[in-house]
Amino acid sequence: MTRKNLLCTTDQFQQLLHLIKNDGYKLLGPTVSNEVIIYDEIQSAQDLPIGWMDEQDPGHYRLKRRSDLAYFGYNLGPHSWKKYLFPPTEKLFSARKQSNGMVVFQETEPITEKMAFIGVRACELHAIFIQDRVFKNKLAVYKQYQQRRENLFIMAVNCTRAVNTCFCVSMGTGPEVEEGYDLSLTEIINDKEHYFIVSAGSAIGRSLCDQLALKPAGQTECEIAQQLIEKNIEQMVRRVDNKNVHEMLSRSWDCKRWDKVAERCINCANCTMVCPTCFCTDTEDKVSLDGAQVDRWQSWDSCFNLSHSFVHGGSIRESAKSRYRQWLTHKFGTWWDQFGISGCVGCGRCIAWCPVGIDVTEELQELRNECDKNNS
Ligand code: SF4
Ligand code: SF4
Repeated sequence: MTRKNLLCTTDQFQQLLHLIKNDGYKLLGPTVSNEVIIYDEIQSAQDLPIGWMDEQDPGHYRLKRRSDLAYFGYNLGPHSWKKYLFPPTEKLFSARKQSNGMVVFQETEPITEKMAFIGVRACELHAIFIQDRVFKNKLAVYKQYQQRRENLFIMAVNCTRAVNTCFCVSMGTGPEVEEGYDLSLTEIINDKEHYFIVSAGSAIGRSLCDQLALKPAGQTECEIAQQLIEKNIEQMVRRVDNKNVHEMLSRSWDCKRWDKVAERCINCANCTMVCPTCFCTDTEDKVSLDGAQVDRWQSWDSCFNLSHSFVHGGSIRESAKSRYRQWLTHKFGTWWDQFGISGCVGCGRCIAWCPVGIDVTEELQELRNECDKNNS
């Protein structure tokens, strides 16, 4: 379906947020806190990271002032939207022993809160689609995730600037949003003007545009927006060779590169915490003092934790090497077997937030070089 491109001034953008809020949505968006851009509840456009941009490299993230007052002139911070759809800790259910000895199980209350994500990038939208496959499939139903997802409003924003850690183009996930949003925006700012090109992707999005009586964008404005997105593609310095990557990784078991990366990896699990698609969890039963009630809690876990692969008698991945290999081969290889898709969207967070600067794109290339050499 061809979507209409509409013009939205910064005043109309403020009104748009107001309308979404008035519809009962909790506004969640980017904001500056402790010198990083995080996702948090926002009240208006004034809470956005106005005039800030980020600089990212392996093991490096800094906020810098822009020369303008762009609302979405940054890229990505350490938070991803998964913290709202799949929270770091969550009660799954309770069980209570009755006076007659019977045990009654109680589900948690249905989640009815409406959330609006403001400023979702294309790679992040793809990460949500990936977690949909993980949590909305027939085999493993995560009810709370589904309830949150059903009440979600998504305002996506096209990326017009890449940082050094981005590689969404290689993964086919950006920089332009294509589907799965309620509204998509491209921000245009120069010496004379500041406005947005808006496109509605759902009935709710169209109704909001109608309420604001947004006018159609002209050909020139649409061309400027497209050029900005194309310029971003040219800026992207990192890439992954996806050709037969699953098959290549399945041949890489004995590669020496795993030993080399294990010398650097401190198994801190940062890469999995910041990754918008990682979904490993642990569960814990919290029992009341009198033993009559038990609550089952779920919390984020990581394949970098020794306890994550603990089976009777010990952990099956004792070395740092085996844990890094598990993460990389799952993310880019066996994820395909499980979910029919790659587990990586090329957001680059694991590169910027790795304290020792391990770069997943470099590791994949080195493994490919070694596998090719071994085969020749
Ligand atoms: S593996 Fe790294 S680049 Fe890929 S989605 Fe996860 S954090 Fe982003
Ligand atoms: S690759 Fe980096 S972020 Fe991930 S566990 Fe190792 S040291 Fe930590």
